[in-house]
Amino acid sequence: MLAKAAIFNTPRGRMDIREVALPSVEPDGILVRTTRANICGSDLHIWRGDTPLRPGNHIIGHEMVGRVAELGRNIQTDSQGRPLEVGDRVTYLYFYFCGRCYACLEGYRSACVNMMRHPYQMGDVMISMGAFAEYYYLRPGHYVFKVPEDLSDEAVAPVNCALAQVTYGLQRIGLRIGQSIVIQGAGGLGIYAAAVARDMGAAQVIVIDRFEPRLQMAAAFGADQLIHLGTYDTEEARVRRVRELTNGWGADICVEVVGSPSVIPEGVRMLKNGGHYLIMGSINPKQTAPLEAGRIVFGRITLVALATYEPWVIPQALDFMQRNLKRYPFQQLISHTFPLDEINEAFQQADAGAVIRASIVP
Ligand SMILES: [Zn+2]
Ligand SMILES: [Zn+2]
Repeated sequence: MLAKAAIFNTPRGRMDIREVALPSVEPDGILVRTTRANICGSDLHIWRGDTPLRPGNHIIGHEMVGRVAELGRNIQTDSQGRPLEVGDRVTYLYFYFCGRCYACLEGYRSACVNMMRHPYQMGDVMISMGAFAEYYYLRPGHYVFKVPEDLSDEAVAPVNCALAQVTYGLQRIGLRIGQSIVIQGAGGLGIYAAAVARDMGAAQVIVIDRFEPRLQMAAAFGADQLIHLGTYDTEEARVRRVRELTNGWGADICVEVVGSPSVIPEGVRMLKNGGHYLIMGSINPKQTAPLEAGRIVFGRITLVALATYEPWVIPQALDFMQRNLKRYPFQQLISHTFPLDEINEAFQQADAGAVIRASIVP
């Protein structure tokens, strides 16, 4: 059987829509009909060539939701033991753990050293992630979670990337009830970080960005202080503002979700002594930032860097969303929707930056 997929092979190049062969479903595999796939910041980095893929044809995209199209004969339930049938909506991790490297053996699976190295190959196409296509194949042994029917595709598509990432990150950085948190960047990650921090009991959620609509969206998702780069147009002004808002001490936690390491020194300056700094957005290996080691040492700052998450985070993220359906406008986070045929237009607009989340309906 053939199905449509967008083929990526050149940074910033046109992606062509091609018919590719679908894998035959193994006894423990699941074929998913992708119903919505978002353009995440990481996809933009790949599209720009910041994080190169091996040469060749790839299906990229990883933030998605879909319906079970075909179930391997051994699969009766999802990863939480709930009955699973053809037609059910599912969300799932977009990466695979090897189970054999030292990180996997030590139980730190989200640090698996082989995680992204084995794309599934169909003919001359590497399904390196694979959301920008009509179908997605879940290989044997994968984690899959049934989606509650009251959550729309628009709300759920970001669960397996942006929402799971911040849900994991804020737990790993040790956010506690009553703390103050600065979020650098109000893209998808930053907006969810505001909402999840609020849900976890943060007393003060401060969000920094350059685009007013993104800041307003962060406010709708629980941010109570907004720092606009146009108003606070120097690092000194922004650091001073954070100190004003935090009793002169600085914040307990700062999270980088801008996607550029240039903001890291500034974020470190916004922390109080003993503060914690979480880096999650800066994934371009070519970009660097100066490290003020003395400030970090004497500030007793803890730096934590994370990419991906553990499988148990997805049920937490789905619970968070169900619990907060009335509180936060999850549907509005997808600001632009395109059919698969218009994926190039979607990337152009997302690259321009004013888009909160562009989404593809394949
Ligand atoms: Zn992502
Ligand atoms: Zn591994």
